[in-house]
Amino acid sequence: MRHLISGFGVRKRKKAGPQEDRKSLGRAELMHRVELLASFEQAGLGWFWATDGDGRLTYLSYSAADRIGRAIDELLHQPIINLFEPDTEDNEFRSERPLVFLLKARNSISQLTVRISGTEKENWWEISGKPQFDEQGNFTGYRGSAKDVTATRESMRDAARMAQYDELTGLANRHRMKRRLAAQLEANRNTKRSCALLLLDLDRFKQVNDTHGHPVGDELLKQVASRIKRIVGDRGEIGRMGGDEFKILLPDADDRGMLGDLGQRLVQMLSQPYSINGLRAVIGASVGIAIAPYDGLVPDELVSAADLALYSAKAHGRGQYRFYCSDLKKEAQRRAMIEGDLRDAISRDELRMFYQPIVDGVTHEVKCMEALIRWEHSERGFIPPGEFIPIAEEAGLIKTIGGWAIQEVCRQASEWPVPIRVAINVSAVQFENDDLPRIVSDALKSSGIDPARVELEITESVFIGDYGRTQRTFKDLKKLGVRLVLDDFGTGYSSLSYLRKAPFDKIKIDQSFVRGATEKGNNNKAIISSIVSLAGALDMETVAEGVETKDELALVKERGASHLQGLLFSAAVTHDEVMAVLGSGSLVYEPRGPEKYRAPRRSELRRIGLIHDDHRYEVTIRNLSRTGAMIEGLLNVPLDTKVVLDLGDGQLAVATIKRSEEFIQGVEFETPLISNGSDGLCTRYRVSPYQIEAAGRPLAALSGDAYAQLGGGAGAAQRPRAFMEMDTGKRMAGMP
Ligand code: C2E
Ligand code: MG
Ligand code: MG
Repeated sequence: MRHLISGFGVRKRKKAGPQEDRKSLGRAELMHRVELLASFEQAGLGWFWATDGDGRLTYLSYSAADRIGRAIDELLHQPIINLFEPDTEDNEFRSERPLVFLLKARNSISQLTVRISGTEKENWWEISGKPQFDEQGNFTGYRGSAKDVTATRESMRDAARMAQYDELTGLANRHRMKRRLAAQLEANRNTKRSCALLLLDLDRFKQVNDTHGHPVGDELLKQVASRIKRIVGDRGEIGRMGGDEFKILLPDADDRGMLGDLGQRLVQMLSQPYSINGLRAVIGASVGIAIAPYDGLVPDELVSAADLALYSAKAHGRGQYRFYCSDLKKEAQRRAMIEGDLRDAISRDELRMFYQPIVDGVTHEVKCMEALIRWEHSERGFIPPGEFIPIAEEAGLIKTIGGWAIQEVCRQASEWPVPIRVAINVSAVQFENDDLPRIVSDALKSSGIDPARVELEITESVFIGDYGRTQRTFKDLKKLGVRLVLDDFGTGYSSLSYLRKAPFDKIKIDQSFVRGATEKGNNNKAIISSIVSLAGALDMETVAEGVETKDELALVKERGASHLQGLLFSAAVTHDEVMAVLGSGSLVYEPRGPEKYRAPRRSELRRIGLIHDDHRYEVTIRNLSRTGAMIEGLLNVPLDTKVVLDLGDGQLAVATIKRSEEFIQGVEFETPLISNGSDGLCTRYRVSPYQIEAAGRPLAALSGDAYAQLGGGAGAAQRPRAFMEMDTGKRMAGMP
């Protein structure tokens, strides 16, 4: 109490308050007051503090020192300002005039929030105080009170955060989605349910935003949000992560058939044109999908799985969805390798231009050569352009590679003995570059090639983004005298209204329409006819791409395609071979190849598991389609045997042996496989990690051999193996 009385200077008090009008207080009453103050302090209702004229602490309530875990003696006689840190957070508590300023100016301090310095956990006080003066008017220090407001401050901060929905779109914001995901996954663990996380990223949003400004970009995002809302409805929660990234959380969703349909619908709907204050914009979307508990049990795991899936969707050409699978980790590593090595591919002289003939639809005489880039990696062999071009686009390397290709093709084609045309592929990313007309013009000049011989093949994705700029580039290129070709028509964001205004000389019908066009009930025939007549009306030529068989050839000729390209005539060949062919004087290509188109079976050489009677065999999968597979490795399996194929990552497919010949069996799946969004197939459902947990294993996301984790094969020892296994590895090594 001595500390209180002397420190707080009760006796020194000179100016009496209104109630202290009496000349002196009785000793008993004084003690009573002191006791009252002491119990007030101890109860933690508030604290007192005081300083001397130099701003050094002369008093602080014991309980206040306790609260911040410091000894009172350590604090006394220290400058009060050392006790506090300024509030640097941008929030409603922050004072315009910080404590230092108030103390220096000897101003009153009224309910100022300050942070206690040097404490590990945040500790916030609200302090008030008044300057004191002696009879001569000399400043003698401060006296004041304080209280702990840490809890209030934290809860207000939380509330502010919680209330935060994305202002622009009204969707949940990043914080909310994070909490929702954490809560959902937590709840799922108890209820053993699933949920899906979709990560959605807009393609080319940035272009629209950059060219037309933020108001247009904002309006576009609003329209995107409302389209997503319409598709998802109340099935799940939608959030905007900032920028052009969205997240969708769907409780109780583990059917990859349904999720694939949803992914597809999102991509399709978001790729339809937008109208913003009379302005037209087209963007695309890519979606990555991960499902708990299969792909991740905790938020970080699930989010990074969805991230990898999104990345893969983008790397496979954007405008698609993709499910997570454990291979994507390897895929991401390979992408990183490709990106790293691509930087040096030109200087290491690993890139080459090959040429594929495009022939006249009637005479089969070569009219043009399409230049196709080839990369022979010094260690990894041939890497296809379909794989490295999208990576080059993403990594900002396409300008260098594309520029090199334009130079190289113009130079080589200028040497050809017959002046047929040459077509160069130009990526949409390259097309956006303002430099393109200059790069083309430089190549034309330095090679001396006739510009009318040069065609630039551009895909529909150039129409995504800024319309005005695209038109300007078209005009500049036409001024140079080169021809423009629309490549892969019908696969992307087909927009007929643009086609009318765009100065194309030729349309290439994508090979996906040619493939399978000869099959019954397929409407590709009608699509080919309508593209041909559309091109006719617009006075453009047509090329049917990817003609592989004689029946396809007959069909596209009958439908009136003016030009043809495909393996039936020739694959892409080296520049030396082009020189030889053109030098030979015989420019007509004979169609050589299979008569008929056969429905594609993915040829895979992958080791998988085959489970029969609790035994697990290793087999090689040679072909995989939605409805069945061709496997190799077991001898004489009887027809109609029921087996389970373990396709990895918890994908178990029940199947029946339908064909059997020595070591090769054809199996039919009980439930058809579905698309993984890219060029692969997957099962609708997987073994649940909860089932694995029930079999006595720790709960974890799926990895590799789920069958063994399930305790499969435990009873195998008692029974003999029914089939003889062949060492498929050896056979594979010797296979063609
Ligand atoms: P694209 O421009 O549509 O080229 C046609 C692709 O189809 C080529 O694949 C060609 O080899 C292949 N092809 C031709 N006939 C047939 C056939 O009968 N059956 C099948 N299945 N395929 C056939 P490639 O060379 O792998 O190129 C893939 C894509 O990579 C090209 O598609 C093009 O978009 C891009 N690309 C190729 N070279 C370049 C380049 O120099 N620059 C840029 N920016 N992109 C390139
Ligand atoms: Mg092309
Ligand atoms: Mg093409």
